[in-house]
Order: sequence, then structure tokens, then C-alpha cells
Amino acid sequence: MERDQGVRSSGNPVDVRKGAYQVAERLGVLSRLRDAGTKVNELIFVDDEGRPVASMRTRQSEDREVEVPRADLSAILVEAGREHAEYMFDEMIKELRPDATGVDVIFDRTAPRRFDLVVGADGIHSGVRRLAFGPEADFVRHLGMYVATAKVGVRLDRDDTVIMHNEPGTAIALHPGTGAPLAAFIFRSRARIDHRDPDAVRRLLKQTYSRNAWRTEELLSAYLATDDVYFDSVSRIRTPSWSSGRITLLGDAASCVSLFGDGSSSAMEGAATLAESLTSSPSDIPAALARYESAHRAATRPRQRGVAIASHLLIPRSRLEMTLRDQALRLARRRRSVVAS
Ligand SMILES: Cc1cc2nc3c(=O)[nH]c(=O)nc-3n(C[C@H](O)[C@H](O)[C@H](O)COP(=O)(O)OP(=O)(O)OC[C@H]3O[C@@H](n4cnc5c(N)ncnc54)[C@H](O)[C@@H]3O)c2cc1C
Repeated sequence: MERDQGVRSSGNPVDVRKGAYQVAERLGVLSRLRDAGTKVNELIFVDDEGRPVASMRTRQSEDREVEVPRADLSAILVEAGREHAEYMFDEMIKELRPDATGVDVIFDRTAPRRFDLVVGADGIHSGVRRLAFGPEADFVRHLGMYVATAKVGVRLDRDDTVIMHNEPGTAIALHPGTGAPLAAFIFRSRARIDHRDPDAVRRLLKQTYSRNAWRTEELLSAYLATDDVYFDSVSRIRTPSWSSGRITLLGDAASCVSLFGDGSSSAMEGAATLAESLTSSPSDIPAALARYESAHRAATRPRQRGVAIASHLLIPRSRLEMTLRDQALRLARRRRSVVAS
């Protein structure tokens, strides 16, 4: 069930790698993912004049991962499941009434229905989590960073590199996408704003990106001129338990660090682990949910720990941190080329 009218959603590029790559292989969707994938394999950091100062590979494995716009990934997965699942769009859950053998689900628009199991895979601001486990504030920790993205109609010379410019505490990335370049503004801020309030978002962005270096002014103007934007805080989700009776959580709803935690791969791996657990003991759902949680928690833990490294790399706090990062990346590149030669 999906609250949107279709599988549109943000074009933010997400990775299918590690266990998720194998899941895609098993689903038979790899060639479709490759066709929809971006060509990006490198991130280049530039100075105020756009000159490269450091770079890093973005792929951990050259031939075992693919970066796909999130909207394409969802469309391909939805299509793959069409024969086996019923989809409801433009719908939301209003109430959950669980008992020992199932859950009565009260929908916003359609008549109530009863299910053996409810899986809340409704993202970082999960409605199922709120209804079954309590308010969002109990599980979400704002990490003092925000991310804003939008497709911007600007020129980009290469389709295989992301270009990033930093100021202390802020980053702007220009990603080629698959034809329509995307700008991403990722920044540290102590401000507490409602991510659904467009005026507050615009004010915060203008205030944060007031220095006109590199293509800041051009990209910010392009972002502010479009309505189809994504904005949210970078948050960590931690839930003490993913299941309560016949209700369970999956993907970002259960555990994530927004854009820093391999979330889409983790969500796909989690879905496969949940499906395997349910298949191996269909008559004992609580045991299956316990097995799913124990196996998949072990897989998500290291990803949650990686957030500090990723955020220091992408959004250094000071000029000194920026310089140290660039030097470290240049050194690592030199080492790689010595080993390769
Ligand atoms: C800018 C950005 C860049 C990212 N980059 C990467 C990356 O490079 N690699 C990576 O692996 N991950 C990345 N991520 C994270 C990744 O997008 C998420 O971890 C992943 O999409 C999580 O999948 P999910 O299915 O759990 O939730 P989501 O993708 O958030 O999907 C939840 C769905 O539920 C729907 N929904 C929400 N609430 C309700 C409701 N109440 N009722 C009904 N439907 C509802 C939503 O419309 C949505 O379609 C990035 C995230 C961002 C924001």
C-alpha cells in the first residue's frame, strides 16, 4: 500500500549493492536496473573556481553494484511483484487493531480488511510505526544535518562523475542522474525546522548558502525555482523492537541513517530476510519475525556506525578538516596508482 498515486517519488540516486545485488539477481531484475542505472563511478571535490582538488571512487565493487534513481528502483520492484501481490495506491492506514491471529486494518479511503501480518515499509516517517509503537520522536534522532535535492536544468559535461563543493559545514553536489542533473544541498545546522514547511526550508537554504562560491548561486536559484523538491533532516532511526505481535517494520521505518546508511540496499536485503523467515515457518509468525529481526539487525548495525565517517568525509566542519580530507584522498589515490602499476 502506498500513499502516493503511483511510484513516482524522488529521483535521488540510490545504490543496489552487497546482499541487495543478489536479491535483484534472484528477482531477475538486474538487466532492468542496469538499463535504468546511472554511469557514475567517481566523486570529484572542487574549489571555488571549479578546479578538482580531490576525488574518490563511489563504487565499492565495479561489477556487483548499480546506482539507480529511486523512482526507477521502486517502479522496477513494483513491476516484479505484480503477479504475486495486490497493490493499493493513494491510500493510508488510519488504525491498526491487532489480536493474536491477525490485524484488522482501517484504511483512509477503502473498507477495512483483515491481514495475517502487517509490514510497515513506509519509510523514515512511518505511519505504521507511529500507530503500532508510538510517536516518531521516540525513535528518531536528528543528527544536526539536512539534505535538500531537486532536478535542476543545468549543464553538466560528464555523466560519470558527481561534482561536490564544500564550505565548512556545507556541501553542494551536482549529480548527472540519468539525463536530468540533480543538485543536492547537504549541510549541518542547529536550526529545528519542520521539513514540510516550504517557506522555512527556503529561508534556511538561503541563509546557509549565502556565500556565492563555485555554482552555488546558479544551483540554489534552480532549486528555489522548482516545486518538485525533496527536503528532510538527516536522522537516525532506532527502534528497540521491530515487531509487536503481528505487526513488523522494514527498511527505513525500522532502522536507518537517512542518506548515509546504504538504506535502499538494506531495505531490499531486509525484505528478502523477512520473506525467507516467513517461508521457513509460515505457521509460526512470531518465531519468523524474531529470526528476521535478529538476522537483519546484525546486518544493519555496521551501517549505522558508518555515519560519522561518511558525514566527516562529505561535510567537513572546518577548512582544516576539508584540507585534511583532500590530502588523505590524494594520498589514497597515489597509493592505488602505485599498487596498480
Ligand atoms: C538524498 C538522499 C540520498 C540517498 N542516497 C542513497 C544512496 O546513495 N544509497 C542508498 O542505499 N540509500 C540512499 N538513500 C536512502 C534511501 O533512499 C532509503 O534508505 C530507502 O529509500 C529506504 O527505503 P524504504 O522502502 O524503507 O523507504 P522509502 O524509500 O522512504 O519508501 C517509503 C514509501 O512509503 C510511502 N509512505 C510513507 N508514509 C506512508 C503512509 N503513512 N502511508 C502509506 N504510504 C506511506 C512513501 O510515499 C514511500 O513511497 C538516500 C536518501 C536520500 C534522502
